[in-house]
Amino acid sequence: MVTENKTLVVIFGGSGDLAHRKLYPALFQLYLKGSLNKHFAVIGTARRPWTHEFFREGVIENLSDGTLEQRQAFAEHFYYQSHDVQDSEHYVALKNVIDKLDDKYQIGGNRLFYMAMAPSLFGTIAEHLRSEHLLSHDGYNRLIIEKPFGHDYESALALNNAIVNTFDEDQVFRIDHYLGKEMVQNIPCIRFANPFLNAVWNRDYIDNIQITLAESLGVEERGGYYETSGALRDMVQNHIMQIVAMLAFPRPEKYDDRAINQAKSQVFASLPVYTPEQVQAKFVRGQYGEDASGKQAAYRNEDKIDANSTVETFVAGEIDLDMPQWQGVPFYVRTGKRLPAKKTRIDVVFKADQSELFTEQPASPVLTIEVEPDLGIELTLNGKEIGTSSLIKVDQLQYLLNEDQQKQVPDAYERLLLEAMLGKQGNFAQWEGMTGSWHFVDAIRKAWSQEKDIDFPNYQSGTMGPKAADELLSKTGRHWIYQG
Ligand code: NAD
Repeated sequence: MVTENKTLVVIFGGSGDLAHRKLYPALFQLYLKGSLNKHFAVIGTARRPWTHEFFREGVIENLSDGTLEQRQAFAEHFYYQSHDVQDSEHYVALKNVIDKLDDKYQIGGNRLFYMAMAPSLFGTIAEHLRSEHLLSHDGYNRLIIEKPFGHDYESALALNNAIVNTFDEDQVFRIDHYLGKEMVQNIPCIRFANPFLNAVWNRDYIDNIQITLAESLGVEERGGYYETSGALRDMVQNHIMQIVAMLAFPRPEKYDDRAINQAKSQVFASLPVYTPEQVQAKFVRGQYGEDASGKQAAYRNEDKIDANSTVETFVAGEIDLDMPQWQGVPFYVRTGKRLPAKKTRIDVVFKADQSELFTEQPASPVLTIEVEPDLGIELTLNGKEIGTSSLIKVDQLQYLLNEDQQKQVPDAYERLLLEAMLGKQGNFAQWEGMTGSWHFVDAIRKAWSQEKDIDFPNYQSGTMGPKAADELLSKTGRHWIYQG
């Protein structure tokens, strides 16, 4: 049976894109499933002077599923409060609304504060929540924040300091929506619930691990933001690093949030800080040009992009973890815009048989974890040709979720919002981990900033990135398993 969660959600940035496209539909799914029922309320805040009715109409417009009655009944729990986060007096008004709704819906003081707005305002909001007494004394007070969490270690630290004055680490839920994906959450289970896999999950049997986060879209209307970010900060520092940690963390004592986060922090602590020479040898950056037909514009010709921009839309690199289990096992990571298709997948490449038992060299066995758009697992193994021949051929075992199963998979935001209501920290980024990840990324950024001749654009839209990304592996006799 599903238990109802009593909670009051305050969304700062309630008129924004994230709230409408992701948060309200995710809350609706929780409502349809009974995780939210009678004792909940959502307050959307933003500067515009909207009425509750207008706000509710906007919420309903973004909902699919359920009946009209269900959508309306759900939206009845939504309230709008015009609020400038810089204005102290507005917090007094907001506190009144919170108190009234807490009373009306008998919520018992449980509060989730969701920061769906620019990170530069997180500190201001957190401070006011404390100084203007918006935190309850009865239930929980939790803060949910979004990326980008800083643009380097220093700014991330400043942001964190602004928050920890008000909230303890276990009250802060840093969303990394890749940690809300079904197959990413499945990784510990695949690794530890199958002892035969756990037994070979180390440097003795694994040759390398490849992580690809490919996007087919270009920068679209996010040009302003992207110019300040680039692929390294936008994708590697957070999502890719979280996936590396999920794949590499040592077996925890217990299968619970605290133990998993502690195990993951060992991975983040073992991230290298590369010298400029190492960056040059181990990391490749790229920027998309137009496509073969000339229909898709080059990055430099996109809206709000500098005509001489040196911002990278592609990164590929090798991460060498300083952990006994992973000595000598490169984690190859790759992400980029305008690649042939949207795809997130992980290829765990096992060592090939090096003995001379067979006349031909068997291929490297590969365990593939398909994260999106397909979800599932593939195992590529060596087998014998059918018949009297003893030649080796490659066989593939495949388990992919079918359409019905895919429909049962909750959206990342639905899952993470529920976990925040339950106080489960296991699928949220921890500050300790972010520290290692920023130091790693800052070293690459710094090395790149010293390079003079940047030959951008260096890959055509619709291709798998610059040639150098392939050379990164081919120089060691390896290749990317996923070829696009
Ligand atoms: P948005 O510009 O659509 O919305 C920003 C919201 O903040 C609006 O409601 C705006 O009215 C409000 N706001 C701005 N200044 C304010 C002030 N002084 N007082 C009160 N309200 C104010 O942005 P978004 O796309 O919804 O993104 C919000 C945050 O989430 C950003 O930090 C973004 O980087 C992050 N994020 C967004 C997405 C997404 O899919 N949109 C994904 C990941 C992370």
